[in-house]
Amino acid sequence: MNNYSVTLTERIHKQLCNHLIRSDGQEDLSFATYIPSSGEERFTGIISKIILPSKDERSVHGNAEFYSEYLIRSTRIAAERKEGLVFLHSHPFPGWQGMSYPDEIAEKRISATAFAVTGRPLLGMTLGNDESWSARFWFKDEKIKRTYHRKCCISVRVIGEKLAVTFNDRLLKPKSEIHNQIRTISSWGQKTQDDISRLKIGIVGLGSVGSIVSEILSRTGVADFILIDFDSVEAKNLDRTQGVYQSDIGKAKVKVIANSIKRSSPIKNISVGQIEYSVCEEEGYRAALDCDILFSCVDRPWARQVLNFISYAHLIPVIDGGIKVRTNFSNTKILGATWRAHTVGYERTCLECLGQFKSEHAKLESEGFLDDPTYIKGMTHKNILHSGENVYAFSAHVASMEVLQFLSLFVSPGGVSKIGQQIYQMSLGILEKDDRICYPNCFYQTIIGKGEHTGVKLYGNHEIAEIKRSERKIRSNKVS
Ligand SMILES: [Zn+2]
Ligand SMILES: [Zn+2]
Repeated sequence: MNNYSVTLTERIHKQLCNHLIRSDGQEDLSFATYIPSSGEERFTGIISKIILPSKDERSVHGNAEFYSEYLIRSTRIAAERKEGLVFLHSHPFPGWQGMSYPDEIAEKRISATAFAVTGRPLLGMTLGNDESWSARFWFKDEKIKRTYHRKCCISVRVIGEKLAVTFNDRLLKPKSEIHNQIRTISSWGQKTQDDISRLKIGIVGLGSVGSIVSEILSRTGVADFILIDFDSVEAKNLDRTQGVYQSDIGKAKVKVIANSIKRSSPIKNISVGQIEYSVCEEEGYRAALDCDILFSCVDRPWARQVLNFISYAHLIPVIDGGIKVRTNFSNTKILGATWRAHTVGYERTCLECLGQFKSEHAKLESEGFLDDPTYIKGMTHKNILHSGENVYAFSAHVASMEVLQFLSLFVSPGGVSKIGQQIYQMSLGILEKDDRICYPNCFYQTIIGKGEHTGVKLYGNHEIAEIKRSERKIRSNKVS
């Protein structure tokens, strides 16, 4: 793993703040448990259960101390839940916190007990008096006995209506370039711009909407992208895909868009990960788990199901959108078009309850039936897969609506982070709200923050993705 991070819900964050930030200004402490979430390059601890101390389990005297009974009780709870142990304490200062020598000694000591009982590294966290977090994992040395090494996290992410991230300034430096971004920075200030430049944003699906979302984000100052798409550029993409030209036909979409957004960026060295897999394959799925925010620019049920799952189980907010065009039977007249944008995940309505995919269709797709011509002949194919009528202007509008969802979530103009689910009725020129909430029996609301412990695996083999990759391989062999 290259990076470490922590995520928690706002509900847990508030409970911890209430306990750890004391009105008398003294420090306090607590234990908790975490569930792992392993991406390709980033390991995240998802805070699961808070174990507050009883009166006789710790003493507060300026700083705080715990008694061994509390450690034993907490470690046992973590082990029973098959989760890792978290040790949290507060400092009376703002921002990302460094560690004092006594802090290090204390956490190293707890690491040994935590690892022996839970088999997982201890997660140490410090809360500043401005509600900023800092965090580190303590890994056992593989050779030297009783030795634990600290791996500092790059960020701690709190997801509520807003996504609030504390970044580790030492490990994750801002990338914004003031001279090229004067107008943007004057809209929301340097700090917001710096934070935008430190987010890792995943874009899943680089078709018309995904390519335009990438372009807007690049110009807005996002500097760390992961593009996930197995597909190649085809002639039919040319009328709607941003940054794609005749000469790109046959190339991987992620490659072409990566080059395009690098050119568009006002920042010199942006990082663009190119993942030539579906998010339904393990490689694509793990790359998605490395991200702070995901854009779902796919129209297939399986990929939507996987992204919906990630947004709840792994607490990574997903911004999704879609376009439906209504035409007459012979496709010679447009009757109307609607497109929508929404953010899903914790405290929000899920994609399945919003009617954006059906589990049974996702299952059919994962089993290969949706792409089997003999199977789909007998069913109402159009109901499952849109036949793709679309126009560049529609994609540009929905892409912009999706990025506006992102800005509300992260920048919160006017203090508002949750703008809800929006639908644009093109023929009438009306923007509507969709107030639906999840059905009472919604599965996704039961897996919030369960990370790797949901017992569900949604990724698998993806035949079409494999075919597309091998077609490109044959093509590049021919060229060389
Ligand atoms: Zn301390
Ligand atoms: Zn739901």
